[in-house]
Amino acid sequence: MKTNQKALRRNTAQFQLTRQFSLLLGAVMLFFNLVFILLSIGYLYERLADQADQVFETIEKGHAAKSGWPAVIDVYVSADEESALRVRQADGQVYNSEEATEVFPALATGKIIPLLEGIVLSEEDVYYTKTEEINGDQVTIALNSEASVELAYGLLWISSLLNLAAVVIGSLLIYWRVGKWSQKLTSMAKEITAIESGKSGELTVVREPVEIQSVAISFNQLLKEQRETIAREKRFIADASHELRTPLAAIRGHVKLIQRRSAAHPEVIPASLEFIDKESKRLEILSNQLLDLEKQPMTKQTQTLDVGQLIREVCEKQAIVSTQAIDYVIEEPLMMKGVKTDFQQMVQNLLENAAKYAPAETMIHVHFGQKDQHIYLSVADQGIGIPDDKKDRIFDRFYRVEDSRSSEINGSGIGLSLVKQIADQYQATITVADNQPKGSVFVVDFSKNHLI
Ligand code: ADP
Repeated sequence: MKTNQKALRRNTAQFQLTRQFSLLLGAVMLFFNLVFILLSIGYLYERLADQADQVFETIEKGHAAKSGWPAVIDVYVSADEESALRVRQADGQVYNSEEATEVFPALATGKIIPLLEGIVLSEEDVYYTKTEEINGDQVTIALNSEASVELAYGLLWISSLLNLAAVVIGSLLIYWRVGKWSQKLTSMAKEITAIESGKSGELTVVREPVEIQSVAISFNQLLKEQRETIAREKRFIADASHELRTPLAAIRGHVKLIQRRSAAHPEVIPASLEFIDKESKRLEILSNQLLDLEKQPMTKQTQTLDVGQLIREVCEKQAIVSTQAIDYVIEEPLMMKGVKTDFQQMVQNLLENAAKYAPAETMIHVHFGQKDQHIYLSVADQGIGIPDDKKDRIFDRFYRVEDSRSSEINGSGIGLSLVKQIADQYQATITVADNQPKGSVFVVDFSKNHLI
């Protein structure tokens, strides 16, 4: 359990980000420490070389020739610092400073450092050595650089400790800050769990960071759409079962009537059968419409269609069954890519409505053509019209305008929602307006992009 929690903690953004930042911080610090070491070595080396040059300069200026080397040789280097000077004259005479007899033999067996010319490591100390010819004498200096090296060591230690402290404290601060930052993600996850179990609420939209903000916005949007879909589906099932129940109850009522009374009153049979026939037809249409509503656009086969021709055929068929005259003006050929039955169903439903909601002997006008960047299909009737406040709602599933004029007319409230659904699939818009002097005009507006 404990190891599990540990592993879980290791997988958190807080832990992982801290580890990455700390490693980066450590690597950067290490790099700069190395640079610091190299620069310090270079600086110390230059200083030693300068120091040696100064000694040579001093020797050159006040040359020992006046009083002779033995009298002055110890003046140039500090015996306390264990530095040494050796002079070899042209005649072979050698003079040593106080420490020279000890220092030079020790250096003879010392180690030379590559790249740092003149630096020799004796067993105990670090020396800088240089030889120069001054007025015919060969002068060799060995400067003890132990003090400088110790200083450099000290500085390096201090700097390393400070850097280590910076990495440790920096990591803790990063852990703390990242923890605060990832708190937003943690509380987002908690909110999602709460939403999941409570089936309500939405995510808090933080102001920053913008990435989390946009995740929350998208999540809320998705949630809203999902809830709307669920609500729509629930409403659809409730509405559909209500629509199916009404004619079914009527049919069962008439069946019972025939069972109970047909023996004594056989005259009820024809009327009841006619009713059953009418209601079962209604059921058939309704169930077909419901199936159409649920058909997925993907399952349909698209092809290049002469849509004008299709519309003409539907108008011709409808003219035979409707009491109204149908006048159609169709611009041909207008080839569009789509599904044949989609266009047929759209025109058919609009024409059927025009026929249902308009008096006999009136005229229905159909127009299909293009204007500017659009292709239009309009169906106009001289019927009862649609009140302005209902115009938006008639495209909803199962919605019917319930007034004294239309309540007598058979319908299920699905026809226009089907037209709208098909129009949506073609990114077309459908609108309704009042016809003059009376009636309604339905207009489906396709963009010209659909033209082939
Ligand atoms: P249905 O006609 O089966 O009731 P629709 O979805 O086709 O269902 O139409 C929804 C409602 O819109 C109808 O009930 C009717 O009130 C109104 N409507 C549709 N077309 C017309 C029209 N051409 N004239 C007047 N009202 C109409």
